[in-house]
Amino acid sequence: MIDKLSDEELKHAFKTERKPEVVEKQKLNVRYHVEDPVVEGRAQKFLEAFAAILKNTNYGFVLDQYVRSSAKCSRCATECQVYQATRDPRDIPCYRSELLLSVYRRHFTVGGLLKGRLFGSGYLTDEKVNEMAESFWNCTACRRCSLQCPVGIDHGLVTHLGRYILSEIGIAPRALVVSTREQLEGKTGNTSAIPVPALLDTLEFLEEDMLEEKQVEIKFPIDQENCEYVFFPAVSDFLMEADTLMGNAAVFTATGDSWTIGTGYFDGINYGLFYSDRMLDRIVKKVVEETKRLKGKKILIGECGHASRSAKYFVPVFCGGKDAPPVINCMEYLWEQLKKGRIKLDPNVITDVVTYHDPCNISRQGWIIDKPREILRSFCKNYVDMEPKGMKNICCGGGGGTVSIDEIRPYRTSIGGKAKAEQVRKTGAKYLVAPCANCKKQLRELMEDQGLDVEVVGLHDLVYKAIIFDESLKKKAQEQVPQPEESEVEK
Ligand code: SF4
Ligand code: SF4
Repeated sequence: MIDKLSDEELKHAFKTERKPEVVEKQKLNVRYHVEDPVVEGRAQKFLEAFAAILKNTNYGFVLDQYVRSSAKCSRCATECQVYQATRDPRDIPCYRSELLLSVYRRHFTVGGLLKGRLFGSGYLTDEKVNEMAESFWNCTACRRCSLQCPVGIDHGLVTHLGRYILSEIGIAPRALVVSTREQLEGKTGNTSAIPVPALLDTLEFLEEDMLEEKQVEIKFPIDQENCEYVFFPAVSDFLMEADTLMGNAAVFTATGDSWTIGTGYFDGINYGLFYSDRMLDRIVKKVVEETKRLKGKKILIGECGHASRSAKYFVPVFCGGKDAPPVINCMEYLWEQLKKGRIKLDPNVITDVVTYHDPCNISRQGWIIDKPREILRSFCKNYVDMEPKGMKNICCGGGGGTVSIDEIRPYRTSIGGKAKAEQVRKTGAKYLVAPCANCKKQLRELMEDQGLDVEVVGLHDLVYKAIIFDESLKKKAQEQVPQPEESEVEK
């Protein structure tokens, strides 16, 4: 059980830096920045957007099931780390989902429409749209609550749909919209706005660093055709997570398998998963197009939970079903190579206590849970697990895209991440391994704000420290070092 926050802590968590004149102009009292939302007739526009989505998708089938469920067991409330911290009834998962389900029931079912005609009540109001705009971004879409629901309601899915409809009327966090716009329509074509020359400079610099540190020529192959793997890390890794990328490159150097980074498109991030299926579809297609341009066989996603999930589940949906290129996460690749004996890791390098955080997007449905643990246990002397873990893991508190919204950091680190901080504290870990760009950012901010002296790293960061290269690779690198010319003095 998580301690309820004091009134003072709650006030701090909900403090907003938005200017009152902006709130007044947008007529929207949410804690994140929004640009150009629909202001007049918001409820009507919401219903139109909802109707269009229902017409063009299968959401209606799922909602029909959900609106028939009437159990009120409250199991979801006990699983939700947000509700456990605030104890605000508005944070109970089924309360939040009911905001949208009641709109569906009233406006899109025969019974609801008849009742409306007979009693003339229950029409969606602007106030209720505003409440949804706040509520759906208080949820991290971690889907932990859904594991416990006896009638099978996926609150993460309802949150996603609610955000999608809102985004169609211009209500979405500016941080996500601006990044996605740059990725789909901007000059650089990626969410961090990294130009290709800057990318190449960074990679060259890292290659020099690795040669110096490991005495092995470790490369980031660029625009190579016919490779086994085309690599898409979260693009922010090129700015923030050099050690993770060096770990990725070191692993491929050790195995000798072919991989490449494409300059046509090199961003694994897909914020569409957090707020818009239309964006999700367009971004996934860019990944597939680049893989095809380079005639690559497989899509390799870096250490990033949502990037992995969006590619794994939506590449087949939007890009050719069974004919779509297979998607693999870099930890799955590493695990396979370790099992085959193609990677050797020194068990005497990482001696401090290490723990592992399961990113919700790869663990909740049971996809990647044991493999990273097996990798870590194989070379970390002091590995400890958090409880609960795996499918039942506790979210970092910045899930569902909320980590990208800097203005809600106090909320993320005192409410969303409170349970995670307590879990980490109990392990006494020095290294907190978080194989996800979003989790890493959130957990670093969480450790700082909660006063925990823990280093947040990627799994490949530790692998890079411990990897043992074949002597032949070292010899090859030495042979390629240019020999000094005979000096004038010696002549
Ligand atoms: S998805 Fe996570 S944050 Fe959202 S209601 Fe469920 S448990 Fe709470
Ligand atoms: S767990 Fe499911 S059935 Fe129980 S209250 Fe929550 S939404 Fe309703």
